[in-house]
Amino acid sequence: MVYRVIARFLSRRLALCLLCHGPAGNEAGICRACAAELPVLGSACPRCALPLPTAAACPGCLRRPPAIGAARCAWHYAYPVAQLIRRFKHDGDLAAGHSLGLLAARQLRPVEPLPDLLVPVPLHWRRRWQRGFNQAELVAEALGRAWQLPVGRRVMCRIRAGASQQALDRRQRLANLRDSFSVRGKVQGLRIGLVDDVITTGATLDAAAAALLDSGALSISAYALARTP
Ligand SMILES: [Zn+2]
Ligand SMILES: [Zn+2]
Repeated sequence: MVYRVIARFLSRRLALCLLCHGPAGNEAGICRACAAELPVLGSACPRCALPLPTAAACPGCLRRPPAIGAARCAWHYAYPVAQLIRRFKHDGDLAAGHSLGLLAARQLRPVEPLPDLLVPVPLHWRRRWQRGFNQAELVAEALGRAWQLPVGRRVMCRIRAGASQQALDRRQRLANLRDSFSVRGKVQGLRIGLVDDVITTGATLDAAAAALLDSGALSISAYALARTP
């Protein structure tokens, strides 16, 4: 037992920083100097986290209010966060995911009143099987641990793959996303915190939020590691 504690302590102290490869010196796996350089998302639209010079609702959210009441992202989707997210998501580097989740939980605050349940945006089972994990689930677990909130891993599932989203425009994306989520768990009367790795157009989150609201959820807030411009 004692040895295990010492070994864990040493492995943390001796772990190398994921970014500069110097000693990390902490359990986040990114040294203090590199962590301080991460591109923190400053003022942003409170509904969709779009970076803005002031923290007012963006024109898109004013024109068509999203199903999500509030969205919070830790960083801009920019160097080196974008590279770490790619390592996490596409190269299966779970250490990068662990670091990002831990640091994001420190960077972000949950919306008040607190969510009753954090729900990761699900992947279609085929995509999840190919990747071996759902990146949103790992982020939700990190946030849940830090904020002491339960995580509902099986509350939602994705019933359509929506494979080539990137090639579609916004309207096609929305049509493609409609009916792609199915709510399996009990969400009636609950405040749900939806979690994803990156918010791009917000269309995926909005479709997931709409499905949760249709199933009786009281309100939806959203959390992600990073936001694209
Ligand atoms: Zn470093
Ligand atoms: Zn907005």
